[in-house]
Amino acid sequence: MSTQSEIPLSVPSLLGNELEYLRECIETNFVSSVGPFVDRFEAMVRAWVGCRYAVATMNGTAALHVALLVAGVRPGDEVLMPSLTFVAPANAVSYAGAHPVFVGVEQSYWQLDPQRVVDFLESHCRRTTSGWENRLSGRPIRAILPVHILGHSADMRGLRKVARDYQLALVEDATESLGAYYDERPVGSLGDIACFSFNGNKIITTGGGGMIVTDRVDWADRARHLSTQAKTDPVEYKHDEIGYNYRLTNIQAAIGCAQMERLDEIVASKRQIAARYGALLKEPPGIRLPREAPNARSTFWLYTVLLDDTVFGKDSRAAMKSLSRRGIQTRPLWEPLHVSRAHGRAQSFACDYELELYHRALSLPSSVDLGDDGLQAVVHGLMAARAEILAPGI
Ligand SMILES: *Cc1c(COP(=O)(O)O)cnc(C)c1O
Repeated sequence: MSTQSEIPLSVPSLLGNELEYLRECIETNFVSSVGPFVDRFEAMVRAWVGCRYAVATMNGTAALHVALLVAGVRPGDEVLMPSLTFVAPANAVSYAGAHPVFVGVEQSYWQLDPQRVVDFLESHCRRTTSGWENRLSGRPIRAILPVHILGHSADMRGLRKVARDYQLALVEDATESLGAYYDERPVGSLGDIACFSFNGNKIITTGGGGMIVTDRVDWADRARHLSTQAKTDPVEYKHDEIGYNYRLTNIQAAIGCAQMERLDEIVASKRQIAARYGALLKEPPGIRLPREAPNARSTFWLYTVLLDDTVFGKDSRAAMKSLSRRGIQTRPLWEPLHVSRAHGRAQSFACDYELELYHRALSLPSSVDLGDDGLQAVVHGLMAARAEILAPGI
């Protein structure tokens, strides 16, 4: 049975200048990877994040691939990253010929835990003349790749310190957290380089798209170079290394500009939805509401609750099905990568909460246009699911 959900998990809000800017692309014939909207979109994201440089890419995964390359990740290197994430960053590590090592998340906000990263480095790695090396694999550890999941920042104070102490590059996967803050600074400005995604389900969308931001001019230049087939001469078509065709088109960037104009408004709506969910749900027994760290400002990209197995049974799937029967689309978190078919052979360390979060977490509808009726219906549906599971057959 696949009836379309009356209340979808998250859909884009395209109510600004999108159509007008698209028309401009067609009328001016700037439809491909060169054009004024690409420059404007890069400038808007750069300004918002407060970074010196921005390079648009065709999606967030491509942005991560190139960001890792310019951050110095080479074939045979290792990158420390969380297991509890969408698969893209681990794939990007693999595209670079490197290997992910999955390190556990903390229990409060479900983000990569700096203490666990330190513990891994201290207990499983050794210092060499050129940096830190994994004792088991003999491979160099090159970078830390925190993923700010669900609109909330990782503990960047802690991770910056680890990166500094162990001389590792700090590459932020901020694809789910454009618009979030940490220590009053925008997420994406806290590491050495950061990536955003503008896929259809992200906080703002270009249909598909991504962005690399950094303060380092050499990294930005190299990112642009690698994303444009490493072309050194536009007339003679000379190339000095193997590059990629990763550029964003002017059409996509046009949508991006219109979306960026509304980023503050969109983030405010998301936070309002989160506040309203909190007020209506009031954390009844069996349901833990998402937390926000005191020094963080989450976008609540997807409002994700944790269902207690003493009330809801062994996982969130029964609640998901019950809500689905009511036309409400919800979603569990991703299968942790350290137990996945794709990346399960990689080394993992202190992934203590990932499986539990995977079984118990449920993301609730979080579209900007959800509206109060929609929100009340979700809350009602969730409480009904809870009652149904507590007293089956009634
Ligand atoms: C969406 C996402 C990406 C990449 O996004 P695409 O634009 O779809 O390639 C990367 N990492 C995380 C955590 C994501 O959620």
